[in-house]
Amino acid sequence: TSGTSTLTKRVLLAAPRGYCAGVDRAVVAVEKALETYGAPVYVRKEIVHNKYVVETLSERGAIFVNETDEVPEGARLVFSAHGVSPAVRESAAARSLDTIDATCPLVTKVHKEAVRFAKDDYDILLIGHTGHEEVEGTAGEAPDHVQVVNSPDEVDQVTVRDPDKVVWISQTTLSVDETMETVRRLREKFPSLQDPPSDDICYATQNRQVAVKKLSPDCDVVIVVGSANSSNSVRLVEVALQAGARSAYRVDRSTEIDEAWLEGATTIGVTSGASVPEILVRDVLTLLERRGFDDVQEVRTATEDLMFSLPRELRAGLKAAG
Ligand code: SF4
Repeated sequence: TSGTSTLTKRVLLAAPRGYCAGVDRAVVAVEKALETYGAPVYVRKEIVHNKYVVETLSERGAIFVNETDEVPEGARLVFSAHGVSPAVRESAAARSLDTIDATCPLVTKVHKEAVRFAKDDYDILLIGHTGHEEVEGTAGEAPDHVQVVNSPDEVDQVTVRDPDKVVWISQTTLSVDETMETVRRLREKFPSLQDPPSDDICYATQNRQVAVKKLSPDCDVVIVVGSANSSNSVRLVEVALQAGARSAYRVDRSTEIDEAWLEGATTIGVTSGASVPEILVRDVLTLLERRGFDDVQEVRTATEDLMFSLPRELRAGLKAAG
């Protein structure tokens, strides 16, 4: 008779997920700085937006501060992957801090675009989230030329000096679809709006969204591992829901999974943001396995092999240390 068949409980595991090249470089930079120079090494803001990473590095002697004036004169300070404005660099120089710049090269690229368009006196519309460190850094390159556009709905309020001299650029970790909607509305308003020279939303953000989009329609629940202040992780939850997942949740760790989410579920999607160590995903898979979700199928939509060399100042330091 029917009705007694047991449905296999399975996990669809997104790939790519987790660490991107910029996060890997920034975390290794702090580790190498600790090994080479010893503790403490100061870090301005969270090196990457992940609780576990920050806690682990703190235990090893990194001291996380909000601003340069919290760092003793002459000490060593790492700038986070999200980048800093020229004003922050100046205040670090004024305190004679020995800085190591772990800004992701893909963020630096956007800074350079802002500088260049400001030099040509464009109005620069920076699509991104007000208050996010990356947005503060990028906007800080040209405060007189940049205005931040948070969402498609904010387009109505945007005013510019010359509608024929407007360009948009963006934060690297946004939802691709929502950003395109913002651009569409901006272009409706400013038909000669210029595009940035290349994609500002980075490869890692895009790849993680494509992967979660692919598996979401088949999922009762999608679990995104990532911290609350991680922009790209929070976007993955939104993308999963838009792509048809019946529900989607973000957790920092497996212990935050609510058993009620799993009740009646047969397919669970799992992914993680670009700042998330794989060990946290493994913990989630172990928990799911204990609940009978032991059939794990990887859903891969791209392979990544990008790597960035360590920050220049650090390479020089490592060489000097032999
Ligand atoms: Fe760089 Fe993208 Fe990773 Fe941010 S998410 S650190 S921009 S590669």
